[in-house]
Amino acid sequence: MKKFAFIFLALLLPVSLFAQDGDNASIPQSRNCSTMEVLDRLMKEDPDYQERLNQIELQVQDYLKSNPERDNLIINIPVVVHVVYRTTAQNISTSQIQSQINVLNADFRKLNSDVSGVPQAFAGLATDCQINFCLATRDPNGAVTTGITRTKTTKTSFSTNDYVKKTSRGGKDPWPASSYLNIWVCNLSGGVLGYAQFPGGSATTDGVVIGYKYFGTTGAATYPFNLGRTATHEVGHWLNLRHIWGDDGTGCTGSDLVSDTPNQGGYNFGCPSFPKVSCSNGPNGDLFMNYMDYTDDRCMFMFTTGQSGRMNATISGTRASLLSSSGCAAPIVENQEETNDNISLSPDKFVLNQNHPNPFNPTTSISFNLPAAGQVSLKVFDISGKEVAGLVDNYLEAGRHSINFDASALSSGVYYYKLASGNNVSMRKMLLIK
Ligand SMILES: [Zn+2]
Repeated sequence: MKKFAFIFLALLLPVSLFAQDGDNASIPQSRNCSTMEVLDRLMKEDPDYQERLNQIELQVQDYLKSNPERDNLIINIPVVVHVVYRTTAQNISTSQIQSQINVLNADFRKLNSDVSGVPQAFAGLATDCQINFCLATRDPNGAVTTGITRTKTTKTSFSTNDYVKKTSRGGKDPWPASSYLNIWVCNLSGGVLGYAQFPGGSATTDGVVIGYKYFGTTGAATYPFNLGRTATHEVGHWLNLRHIWGDDGTGCTGSDLVSDTPNQGGYNFGCPSFPKVSCSNGPNGDLFMNYMDYTDDRCMFMFTTGQSGRMNATISGTRASLLSSSGCAAPIVENQEETNDNISLSPDKFVLNQNHPNPFNPTTSISFNLPAAGQVSLKVFDISGKEVAGLVDNYLEAGRHSINFDASALSSGVYYYKLASGNNVSMRKMLLIK
């Protein structure tokens, strides 16, 4: 449904909100995302935003023209979750957060089991977007992190005015948007499940906000928004996806700027039955099981090929800095890194040393210490997370081991090597310069 690509960006109507506030508010009966309303506000606050969106749109269309086929690389996006809470219930558990990351990784890789519910007529559209998400292991200073921040606030609730993204307003400032997807989880008022900021906006407010009852699949997550799909939908916006009905109310002229989605009237709530026809789009009707509609969590389970292309074009363009983020690399212990040439090993410790030499061309040595004998794997990955070499995959005795790595077949760049044995895992970065 691709027409009037630029016109409708300027004709967005504010979405009316349900009047509900406070922590005791009941669960909204239907999905309500405020992303377009926030876009409308941001465009009023910043007259240049529209032009930046137009430029990004041109980049996306150029990219899609020159890259009709997606390559096989899996993109890995570091995520930081900022929990901003007043009550104990709002201070959601780490397992609730992890459950949301798991949902994102299933949905954006088409690994979600409910994708089998896509009607046969649309089955060919459901796509693996090849986008993965990882809770950050390094904070902006390179220090060890869980990828979760927790901020106690005096605010009863937050609205869509972005105060949750500002420490000075009782929220939490973002980590650099160039390296992390920032997700804030808080008590969101107004019956809004969540909202996102499209690419091209201010880095100080970039990211997505989700109500704590609509995040993940466990803990405070509440039916019918307890399968983590609010975040899937909002991260879709953050990667430049529009609502599937084209944000023109119930008209048939609005566009989601994606060519393989059927033209659709308005949004769908709840769990419609197939087919649901609008805008003369029969016999198959609306793609209401798409993540960018307004259906309940259990009834949305697919992105299309066109949506995947649009998101990947955005990651290759305006969000390309994420591709070189080290937010999910293993934290480097600084004194270990500085003593590359002075390797000292304690025999009872699991240690992966910095390779030597580093940078290297084309061979280098990787040494490590095992406190106990066991099955060991040592693998090398490129910056996208793709495995490029398996150096060890067998049973080794306790003690020090050294492996030579020949990178003749690889091109210059940053690589990671990861050692795993039993419950011990360690990863380091190395630089090949040819
Ligand atoms: Zn939305």
